[in-house]
Amino acid sequence: MSAEDILSIQNLSVYYATPTVPVRAVDGVMLSARRNEILGIVGESGCGKSTLALATFRLIEPPGYIKAGRVMFDSIDILGLSEGKFRKIRWKRISLIPQSSMNALNPVMRVEDQIGDAIKTHERRISRTKRKRRVRDLLTSVGLEPEVSRMYPHELSGGMKQRVIIAMAIALGPDLIIADEPTTALDVVVQKGILQLLEDIKQNLGSSLIIITHDMAAQSEIADRLAVMYAGKIAEIGGINAIFRNPLHPYTQGLESAVPSIAEKKTLKSLSGLPPDLRNPPSGCRFHPRCPHCMPGRCDVEEPKLIEVKKDRFSACHLYGD
Ligand code: SF4
Repeated sequence: MSAEDILSIQNLSVYYATPTVPVRAVDGVMLSARRNEILGIVGESGCGKSTLALATFRLIEPPGYIKAGRVMFDSIDILGLSEGKFRKIRWKRISLIPQSSMNALNPVMRVEDQIGDAIKTHERRISRTKRKRRVRDLLTSVGLEPEVSRMYPHELSGGMKQRVIIAMAIALGPDLIIADEPTTALDVVVQKGILQLLEDIKQNLGSSLIIITHDMAAQSEIADRLAVMYAGKIAEIGGINAIFRNPLHPYTQGLESAVPSIAEKKTLKSLSGLPPDLRNPPSGCRFHPRCPHCMPGRCDVEEPKLIEVKKDRFSACHLYGD
C-alpha cells in the first residue's frame, strides 16, 4: 500500500455458498483508492462491485464469506479488526451510502433523530441542542432546508431521501465514503444534482470517494479514475479521461461504445452475450466467450493478469504484455 492510497484491496475473494459449488462473486481483486480522489467502479449487474463495497464495510453475511485477501484502510487491516474496534472507525473514518439507500431510512423516525443517532454513537457527550444544530447544518450542506430535520421519510421525495442519507454518511467527516449506486432510481436532473453534491463533498471535506455504478455516463462526469469489473475480476483501471479516450480492455471498449455522446456522432453498439454464471465461470479469461478479439488456445486457457500496460493504465488482457 503506497502513502497516497487511503484504501488497498489486496487479492480479495468473496464467495457465496450454494448447495453445489460457491458463487465466486469477487475473485482475487487488487484495487487501491487514493486520497482525495473519486474512484469509480463500473460493470454490469452481478459483476461483484456491490459485494466489493459490502466486504470493505464488513457487511458480508452468510451465505457469503471472505475466501481470501485483505482490505487495508489507511494501514488498518479492516477484516482483521474486532467488531468493537471496527465500530470506532465505521461512520467516523469510513462510511457507506448503501444500494437502495432511499429505503434505508427508518419510516417512523424523524430525520433529525436518524442522523442524530449516528452522531451520538461516536460523540456520546454531545448535547441534544448541539446535535440538533449539527443535523440542521448538515442538511443545509447537502442542499436541503434545515426544516427537513423535523420531517419523516414519507414526506420526502427520492432525491431528498438520498440527500438525507448522504448527510448521514458525512455526519462525522469520514476520510472515505463508499457510495453504491447513489443515483439509481432517480430522474436525470436529480441524478446530476447528487453527482455534483458528491463532487462538492470531495472538494469541501477532502474525503476520498468510491462510487459504484453500472452507469458509464455518470462515471464520466464524476470519477477521477475508473476500475472496470467483469465477472468478479478487475478488467481495467486508469484515469477516467484516458479510459474514455482509449479503452484498452475489449470489455471496456464494449461499455464505452454503448455510451451516447453529444460531442461526437457515433453508432451505439451493445455487447453481445450474457455475463457468465459465477458458479462455473469460463476458463482462462472470463470474458473470452463474448470477446471479439479472443485468441483461441490462449484466452480460453490462460487467465490474464492485471498488468501496467502504460503509466497508470492497467489491464487484464492477453492483447498486452508478453
Ligand atoms: Fe479478449 Fe483474450 Fe483479452 Fe480476454 S484476454 S479480453 S478474451 S483478448
